[in-house]
Amino acid sequence: MTQVKNWQLNRDMEYPYEEKRPNRQVAYIFDTNKCIACQTCTVACKTTWTSGKGQENMFWNNVETKPYGFYPTAWDVKLLDALKGQEWNKETYEGKTVFEAAPAGEKVLGHLPSYQDYANPNLGEDEIAGIVDKGAFFTGVHNVWMFYLARICNHCTYPACLAACPRKAIYKREEDGVVLIDQTRCRGYKECVQACPYKKTFFNMVTRTSEKCIGCYPLLERGEQPRCVQTCIGKIRLQGWLSKPNEAKEDNPLDYIVHFKKVALPLYPQFGTEPNVYYIPPIHVPREFLLQMFGPHAEEAVKIYRAVKSDPKLLAAFLLFGNTPKIITRFDFTEKETIGFNEKGEEIVRVPLTEPFFEREYFDAKLNVYRHNTA
Ligand code: SF4
Ligand code: SF4
Repeated sequence: MTQVKNWQLNRDMEYPYEEKRPNRQVAYIFDTNKCIACQTCTVACKTTWTSGKGQENMFWNNVETKPYGFYPTAWDVKLLDALKGQEWNKETYEGKTVFEAAPAGEKVLGHLPSYQDYANPNLGEDEIAGIVDKGAFFTGVHNVWMFYLARICNHCTYPACLAACPRKAIYKREEDGVVLIDQTRCRGYKECVQACPYKKTFFNMVTRTSEKCIGCYPLLERGEQPRCVQTCIGKIRLQGWLSKPNEAKEDNPLDYIVHFKKVALPLYPQFGTEPNVYYIPPIHVPREFLLQMFGPHAEEAVKIYRAVKSDPKLLAAFLLFGNTPKIITRFDFTEKETIGFNEKGEEIVRVPLTEPFFEREYFDAKLNVYRHNTA
């Protein structure tokens, strides 16, 4: 094991390989407050990449209802249990990561799901936590909660799947940080399935190899965001390139939201893989749950999110979500609009900060029809 810098933990940590960051890192921001669990992303991914034989159990993208939904079953609670104490001292993680807690002779602390664990992709769907008090719905106070968590491979900076592979079949691309499994090298030992803390590598029973999300790299290579991002009905997603914290650029929307405003946070940073999907935490969920899931900035992130109306720059960055299939590398805004640019500096999207309002005439004389305004 060598020592590498994990900025999400605010410390160095053990990892089997030396620190080697790609030329640029693919990253995503998901706003949990906007997800409606329509599963359009899941279906878009499934029909694009995993409709073949042996891929029936594969959901490279899935959306689960927290706290009772999981795919595969109990993927996170099993690991959280095994990891034991996960203490933070302000910004610094003082517990062990999955690499530091690895059992003797192994590289990563993990668990292999059973076939049964893959049998119920909609387990816990729309199930709420908490107690419905008599009359709670009439006082306006809801002490019950749930939220939708959309999940894909995190294309981690320190992938646990890669660390565990005895065949060196897993690699991280230098040009974009996408983590891939070389199908010609893989022998189906399932070490990656056991090691990935997010359970985002899957075993194919027909090919006898492991497979995982490929980050839609053919789209990335032509400057477009992945399928799950492009098709998202709730416009909860933004994909782009994330800089290291000390190289962050204020006009890169991902850098701005993650590094400057710190309103989008990694999922279970304590696992130690430095995941590259960042979540805007749900605003209505108990504090302890948020802290365990998104780390020590969770409460502050919720505060900033709630105040976005009076923060025009953050609002401008948020309005870029879901409004163009192209990858935005820079953004600017005026009093009225937010504007996104591609790598070449060309304008690719322009979104009004306030939704335009049209009121139609009740009677359209030209077409001789009566019209109703419905929304
Ligand atoms: S989320 Fe899992 S499969 Fe994806 S890079 Fe990280 S460890 Fe590997
Ligand atoms: S398409 Fe978007 S809104 Fe629908 S489930 Fe997926 S992430 Fe959520």
